Amino acid sequence: MIVKYEKKNKNLYNLKEYLKQKNINSLIRVDNEKPVLIIVSKYDNSLLNKINTDFNPLDILKEDQAEKYLNKNRFINLKENKCFLEDEFNIIAGPCSVESRDQMKTLGEHLSKLKIKFIRGGAFKPRTSPYQFQGLKEKALKLLEEIADEYNFKIITEVMDIKNIEKVADYSDILQVGSRNMYNYSLLKELGKINKPILLKRGMSATYEEFLMAAEYIYKNGNENIILCERGIRTFENYTRYTLDLMSVPILKRLSDYPIIIDPSHGTGRWDLIKPAVHAAKALNAQGVMVEVHPQPKLALSDGPQSLNIDNFKELVNSLKN
Ligand code: PEP
Ligand code: MN
Repeated sequence: MIVKYEKKNKNLYNLKEYLKQKNINSLIRVDNEKPVLIIVSKYDNSLLNKINTDFNPLDILKEDQAEKYLNKNRFINLKENKCFLEDEFNIIAGPCSVESRDQMKTLGEHLSKLKIKFIRGGAFKPRTSPYQFQGLKEKALKLLEEIADEYNFKIITEVMDIKNIEKVADYSDILQVGSRNMYNYSLLKELGKINKPILLKRGMSATYEEFLMAAEYIYKNGNENIILCERGIRTFENYTRYTLDLMSVPILKRLSDYPIIIDPSHGTGRWDLIKPAVHAAKALNAQGVMVEVHPQPKLALSDGPQSLNIDNFKELVNSLKN
């Protein structure tokens, strides 16, 4: 539900407070200098009556009209180029983990030939078991920087801890918050204070509302450069690693003005399902995809089964041109 006001007035704030007491989340956004309050819940007649009688709004709209009031020309500002525009399909590619200079050099060369602008690669890895490879940490950040300098890539890598924010921000253009950290509100608050874009991945059991509220922690603390990433949720289905919730794209576009991308690699856990998932993301007007690519997936230190090899990645990129 969207509640419109002429200006930020007492009614708007009283309504926000009222909703808070009822445990209903809401966001205040400004469009054409006029505030709109977005209520993250379904259209509800009794709530609508209450708002009309007690909070004097200018107008109340159904959620599918939210799009009109959200800034759809929003883009993510990276130093010299604007990206993640509404009509762009951005491809982020790279290994799950940065493992070696050889691995990154081979990938860099091929990704660059395919005109890929964003390289990903984990330096600090959130692994299910503490005995699994945990990432090369600062060494990985340096390797990412080396390759990015050579081929003019933008770097996306995950920050797991508050104590590493500065270090990761020094090397990367976009900081990733992983699925396991979507509920880490102290980390999110600190990321609100930096001036680099944040790629926020959906918690594997997070509702849309929880996902948007996690973004709100970053936004409210001062950082509006947020990209949402759907990476699959946990369901009873175990043929795939997670269940890629494609409907999150149109739904989150209704409920927010953040760009949204799809991560089919974690979303499916299977390299052979990446291509249809990427094409689906494009058909849904997602702003892009993040795909794991490895020169030798069988030897990968993490997520080999869901990584495309270079030939298959090439084939995917070319298939998107038609
Ligand atoms: C990743 O992108 O490498 C990753 C660990 O993803 P997620 O947080 O979605 O599991
Ligand atoms: Mn991975």
